[in-house]
Amino acid sequence: MEKPAICGGTPVRDTKIFYGHQYIDDDDIKAVVDVMKSDYLTCGPKIAELEQKLCRVTGAKYAVVCSNGTAALHIAALAAGVQPGDEVITTPITFAASANCALYCGARPVFADINEETYNIDPACVEALTTKKTKAVVAVDYTGQSVELDRLLAHCHKNNIVLIEDGAHVIGTRYNGKFNGSIADMTTLSFHPVKTVTCGEGGAVLTNSETFYKKLLLYRSHGITRDEAQMEHEPDGSWYYEQIALGYNYRMTDMQAALLISQLDKLPAFSKRRKEIVKAYNEAFSKLPQLVVQKEIPESDTTRHLYILRLNPDRLTIGRKEFFDALAAENICCNVHYIPTYYFPYYEKLGYHRGLCPKAEKLYEEIISLPLYYAMSDQDVQDVIEAVTKIAEYYKA
Ligand SMILES: *Cc1c(COP(=O)(O)O)cnc(C)c1O
Repeated sequence: MEKPAICGGTPVRDTKIFYGHQYIDDDDIKAVVDVMKSDYLTCGPKIAELEQKLCRVTGAKYAVVCSNGTAALHIAALAAGVQPGDEVITTPITFAASANCALYCGARPVFADINEETYNIDPACVEALTTKKTKAVVAVDYTGQSVELDRLLAHCHKNNIVLIEDGAHVIGTRYNGKFNGSIADMTTLSFHPVKTVTCGEGGAVLTNSETFYKKLLLYRSHGITRDEAQMEHEPDGSWYYEQIALGYNYRMTDMQAALLISQLDKLPAFSKRRKEIVKAYNEAFSKLPQLVVQKEIPESDTTRHLYILRLNPDRLTIGRKEFFDALAAENICCNVHYIPTYYFPYYEKLGYHRGLCPKAEKLYEEIISLPLYYAMSDQDVQDVIEAVTKIAEYYKA
């Protein structure tokens, strides 16, 4: 049997491959340079153009772009009316920002366990944890697969709860034929470089509600309005504006907006390539009992942001750490998404403890995020498959 590089064999490749990488072409670069030569670097025409384009791409009625996905979650929570004393239900298998947005508003995050096969938040757990204090649910489309929107929305609307979809992974995915972003009360996006489309740093909130839309605009920019209908005092003159809420400066620049407009033209190609890679991985890994393939629900036509390799501990003689290190020795540089949020010392000090969500905790012990991005060549994909297979077979229990 072939020896893994970690015990003296030859690595599958000489150069390192990473779990994610942006794809920027000459059109993207030109779009940014054109803005830099124009009159507006921020608050200019590219912002409105991008917001209209996001609405076209997702089918949402309104889009508010902002400085990053975390800011998007913060203004969405504020628009939902989250405040001290409230509870916000979310999953622990996510980036910390999904729960932090509740803390920013003085509310308490409540962690619901996941479905052990899809790894998304389990609607039954959300229902069981709902109290009179529950103001919002932040449901994360983990890896890009849609959460169970029908059931979550029905529960939330019955109980006067706002459903915020943390769609940092979801752009390009459809749920029952409709693009995610046009279904939940609000959907937040992130345009960080590892995500499917990027502008360096960037985010957006999508909504069909005019009420939420108006609040989002206020919170994005200092709580300031130039709309006379929203003002309390008579305008002194045409320069006049009013601050009517406590907002932030979470604006995006026009350079970023131009880059994202250009990136969105490539979304269909990005989406297609990601689906091809996921298919190749799934085909190879479903043959190995040492590995578990993430369950796909039929409602979600998924553009995958992350590919999660899950180990079957009963069939392997090594654990996740050893498997991860063995892949690194093959020059396949992976990552782990995510450490359960409440494991962090900051959350421990707030009174959260291990054991809250057993399925999420078990998942965390067994997962590795494999390379998945548009520019991966077929050879790259084969190298990853070869390395994973070699290690899984060598350490078969
Ligand atoms: C990336 C990400 C965020 C935060 O987005 P930023 O743009 O990095 O602030 C939030 N939630 C999830 C699930 C993410 O993956």
